[in-house]
Amino acid sequence: MILKKSRAEVAVMARAGKVVADLHEILREALRPGMSTADLDEIAEREVRGRGAMPSFKGYRGFPATLCTSVNAEIVHGIPSRRVVLREGDLVKIDAGAIVEGYHGDSAVTWVVGDETSVDPAVADLVERTRAGLWAGLLAARSGARLSDISAAVEARALPHSYGVVREYVGHGIGRALHEDPHVPNYGRPGRGPKLVPGLVLAVEPMFNLGGPETRTLDDDWTVVTADGSLSSHWEHTVAITEDGPWVLTARSDEPAWPLREPERVPRAATLDARGAR
Ligand code: MG
Ligand code: MG
Repeated sequence: MILKKSRAEVAVMARAGKVVADLHEILREALRPGMSTADLDEIAEREVRGRGAMPSFKGYRGFPATLCTSVNAEIVHGIPSRRVVLREGDLVKIDAGAIVEGYHGDSAVTWVVGDETSVDPAVADLVERTRAGLWAGLLAARSGARLSDISAAVEARALPHSYGVVREYVGHGIGRALHEDPHVPNYGRPGRGPKLVPGLVLAVEPMFNLGGPETRTLDDDWTVVTADGSLSSHWEHTVAITEDGPWVLTARSDEPAWPLREPERVPRAATLDARGAR
């Protein structure tokens, strides 16, 4: 069952989204080679609780941490660990959620550890195109459209490059529960599924792989990796559908939040701006 949110509920979700957005900026600032993913998690828990919020993931089905940290061929749901020390050029996917007054915000990023210009251009392209897929999906989250218009918009950013689009893990509705109906796949034909209406709040989260789309889960029962060992990128935002267009509740300070008035425009990552056009 899809649960629509009132304007007041969306306003609370925007506060949860802001906690997550601020957290991602802090973690990006802190991120450097030699840190462990447990170091990132420690910062995250302190920052989330310090803002009067609660971590969404800690305790969720027994998950032990505030963040999911997934490195290189890990796609999602990696468990922060002292043993995972980040090295220059690693791709770290940081997924974070926070609860404010019972409502969740959920957002994920893919950062290059250390000198961003040192990675192979094919890897930088994967990261940027996955991020572009996220924004294409967010821009399609408009009142009157259909759910699969989001899916098709995301997938269109992967198809020309033959990226593996992960199918076993998808976006989702979000609200009082971290995962609500409907599923939001990152693939499919447009014009299908439920009509998008104001009050719907969704987490859009493309996962693109350099290799095939297949996944497997490690023995810890959480960490999802690419079956072929190829690198993966994951980006996610929580978006509310409003009469005035999509409202990106987890937008960071260098990203537009609402309303997104220019469907053709995908904001560029600050990292890529620094490196020049790509
Ligand atoms: Mg997430
Ligand atoms: Mg999510």
